[in-house]
Amino acid sequence: MSRKRIVLFHTGGTLGMALPEGRRLDLGPRDHLQRLLARVPELCEIADIDLVAPWNLDSSDVGPAHWQQLADAIAAQFAADGPRCDGVVVIHGTDTMAYTASALAFMLRGLDRPVVLTGSQRPLEAWRTDARANLAAAVECATLDVPEVTVVFGDRVLRGCRATKVDANDYQAFDSPNEAPLGRIGVSVDLDAARIRRPMQAFALARDLGTGVLGMTVFPGLDPAMLDGMLAHAAGRVRVVLVRAFGMGNVPILGGAGLVGAIGRLVARGTDVVVTTQCLRGRAQLDLYPNGRALLDAGAIGAGDMTFEAAATKAMWALGHPDRSVRLWFGADLAGEVGA
Ligand code: ASP
Repeated sequence: MSRKRIVLFHTGGTLGMALPEGRRLDLGPRDHLQRLLARVPELCEIADIDLVAPWNLDSSDVGPAHWQQLADAIAAQFAADGPRCDGVVVIHGTDTMAYTASALAFMLRGLDRPVVLTGSQRPLEAWRTDARANLAAAVECATLDVPEVTVVFGDRVLRGCRATKVDANDYQAFDSPNEAPLGRIGVSVDLDAARIRRPMQAFALARDLGTGVLGMTVFPGLDPAMLDGMLAHAAGRVRVVLVRAFGMGNVPILGGAGLVGAIGRLVARGTDVVVTTQCLRGRAQLDLYPNGRALLDAGAIGAGDMTFEAAATKAMWALGHPDRSVRLWFGADLAGEVGA
């Protein structure tokens, strides 16, 4: 079989930082590629490598416009009239990698080849860096039969729209708490082939994203009047509120605690309220307790076992695709982001 051609998108993060003071390197694509190949020469053994450098940022500064730019650039690489591209690796800062992975999973419909996100906890040039192993594993995974957006980090291959950053320090920085890894990276890359998704439609770019998504974490003592007040100021601009509720999707109701009332007023005004759990594992199952049922009665939508990252990006994606309501989009599984 002919060698695979893998395109690297270098978008920044710790992996791309220069030592000793963590500067951002202002390099063109050719220099970025030379730097990577000098430190990770095995990349050339794994595949033919090309590199694109759309931006070079701390991922805290990466947002929806970047996701769209990246989705456009990936789709352009996949175009039939250009040079063959068998898979893509996105080098990305770890802080918001799970948001970018989720957004790409929604935007790249009918994906028929791998899109792998990776990064590192220590810069490429640092001793004992994890960058080299992560990058080599990501490129290897991009040559395999995994037509999904994945996060390859440490010893795991994770479904991108299920991934979350769980550790600011550890080399196993990512997990997908509600979904077993799609693969393990050891001496060999062992994939759980039966669980890998296959495209159900021809590849299509669905890049539109809406604005007006607000997130809120519930905690004991949260004053609902502040929510009313804040939303009154933003009237008309807030279109989806993501509520990070307790446990299975519960909020305070005792003594007429006003949060549910405030949520009901939002829904009546046309704002969608989507409830996730603030627990790392498990699901928002709003029909289980009176404290969750009150949210259902107020018109809220349960997000099941989705990560906050997937719920936030899905809300933006749903607002960009108004041919269906946010409620209907949240009732559908688009990319494996939600369990049955
Ligand atoms: N702040 C960095 C970033 O997300 C952290 C990292 O890459 O690990 O860009």
